[in-house]
Amino acid sequence: MKKISFIIPCHNEAENIDRLHRELDRFSTAVYDVNGEKMDMSRFEWEFLFINDGSTDNTLEKVRQLRKDDKRVTVLNLTRNFGKESAMLAGMDYAGGDAVINIDADLQDPLDVVPEMIYWWERGYDDVYGKRLSRGKESHIRKVLTMSFYRMLNRMSDIETLPNVGDFRLLDRRAVRALTQLRETQRYMKGLYCWVGFNKKEVAFDRADREAGKSNFHFVKLLNLAIEGITSYTTSPLRYATVSGLLVSLCAFVYLIYMLVKTLVWGEVVAGFPTLICVILFLGGMQLLALGIIGEYIGRIFNETKGRPPYMVESYNEERDIPIIEDVKE
Ligand code: UDP
Ligand code: MG
Repeated sequence: MKKISFIIPCHNEAENIDRLHRELDRFSTAVYDVNGEKMDMSRFEWEFLFINDGSTDNTLEKVRQLRKDDKRVTVLNLTRNFGKESAMLAGMDYAGGDAVINIDADLQDPLDVVPEMIYWWERGYDDVYGKRLSRGKESHIRKVLTMSFYRMLNRMSDIETLPNVGDFRLLDRRAVRALTQLRETQRYMKGLYCWVGFNKKEVAFDRADREAGKSNFHFVKLLNLAIEGITSYTTSPLRYATVSGLLVSLCAFVYLIYMLVKTLVWGEVVAGFPTLICVILFLGGMQLLALGIIGEYIGRIFNETKGRPPYMVESYNEERDIPIIEDVKE
């Protein structure tokens, strides 16, 4: 019997846990009709891996309670909040399934799409990702910003990231193994999925609204994620800094020749103080920007050279000694 693991990162999701578990429970025995084929979900063995990512509410107690009655529930408790990306890596490390499915705890990813993902998985696809047709109840400005971010990112890098595709996806063991080999601490998962490659297949769905609680991502966090995305994915901003430096120098040189000729032919009185200030300020700004860009990359080098693991485990199920990942997978 093939085993499939749901990976569910949770940060302050106490209000959603019970409902999610009910949905998962119902789902795991339901029969679906996919492309004219009957898909019985009970022919798989299921694992519901909850990763508690440093919640400050009683999320952990809730999932531990669930595990008492339902041994398909497994609980990985991280020592503090490491962020969703690291929590998902932890999930992939500890998941025991032949395939894993990433879902959010807030029920925004509809389980009804999962059978179709499995359908394609059984036909040889390693990465079946959900593509959002609508984005649920999100502010207009967030939608616009997200779209322009993707457009910018794709223009900057060679490997394409797909817009409206998130973490909601089914990954075959092979793809999971590939992803867990990428141990960078500053993870931009959307880029990593594309980077590892494998056979990909798209499944369209409508994103629901958050069930309870509020989104963990506000504007500043999203901006950080965007900068993170760009700097971990491509070094082209450095190239842009070089090119704009070249362009500015070129303009300055042309202007210098012009001034020289003008002074020699007509003679020149000292003038143009405002222009001077403008140019100085503009160049100063450009230099600071370029320095900032370089700084971003140096910061990343600094963080990665420390070679710290991306997350720390406090306990796995009932065990308080951190089990070695290899043992868990057996
Ligand atoms: N999450 C997490 N750690 C964090 C932030 C979020 O594990 O530091 C989880 C959260 O519990 C949820 C998922 O990541 O299951 C998506 O978070 P959220 O719903 O806040 O994001 P959005 O849907 O707004 O993108
Ligand atoms: Mg959400």
